[in-house]
Amino acid sequence: MQYAAISLNLDSLGEAYGWPSGYPDPSFFQIADRFFQIARKYDFKYSIYVVGKDLEKPENRERVRAWARDGHEIGNHSWLHQMDLGAMSRAAIYEDVKHAHDAIAETTGSAPRGFISPAWNTSRTLYTVLSELGYEYDTSIFPSWIMFPVIAKNLYNHLGNKKFFAILKRKDWLTLAFGTRGVCQKQGVTVLPLPTNRFRVACWHTLGFMIGWKRHLQLLKSCLREIDAFYYLIHPADLMDRRDLDPGRKVPLERLGTPLEEKIHHLERAIENILQSGRKIITMSELARRHKII
Ligand SMILES: [Zn+2]
Repeated sequence: MQYAAISLNLDSLGEAYGWPSGYPDPSFFQIADRFFQIARKYDFKYSIYVVGKDLEKPENRERVRAWARDGHEIGNHSWLHQMDLGAMSRAAIYEDVKHAHDAIAETTGSAPRGFISPAWNTSRTLYTVLSELGYEYDTSIFPSWIMFPVIAKNLYNHLGNKKFFAILKRKDWLTLAFGTRGVCQKQGVTVLPLPTNRFRVACWHTLGFMIGWKRHLQLLKSCLREIDAFYYLIHPADLMDRRDLDPGRKVPLERLGTPLEEKIHHLERAIENILQSGRKIITMSELARRHKII
């Protein structure tokens, strides 16, 4: 039996996109509910990585607690979603990761086992911190040249937003071009790189909105053939609708132009392809355990 996981990187409007704190964040409510409807339809659990600071809001905390109770895995996506996390000092990385770690443990009743860094920004120092905090696995490696156009596009989309220039502060440029495509160990932490095909084209759901769905499904199928520890990375914006947002506020996300019904269709097609490949969908921590290098 082969396995796969569905990894929901919960980039919230509040913390990842800097919306005002008084705004009820649909990423935790109606948008999340669309994802759960799909999980029920195909009978699987997500691995959801939350930004720690979002848990300061009791209504968000309540939602995350319910997701954990329902069997979804809750992982750590840092405290403040700083795009240069991997390049920061050890003390600063430790403080950020630990802060989110404690908030998640307090919310769900158990410590998170997995981590994904904002903007896949990683470094050796970050791995020493994850190791010290007892993380079983990390999913922050992006071994693909696709990162270069993604960075360019992000900078363009967020023109004038200083926070996004931090994405350029990173120590892992070589990993992007030459990093391992298979499972590896760093400081005792199992690392599951983002799936790529043999031309190092990374496969995650958002890319379909940029390269077209026909090409994207071909990429997905080749990654399903080539990558053992396969997981499919998705984001709230993949099922976000214009009506979720305050019409007066500009959101720099190009995929808002696609109607919601079409977005649901694309995500369901991707999940059907994963299931049709014969894989069973399990959580990321189960996947990491199955592929752990001993
Ligand atoms: Zn993020």
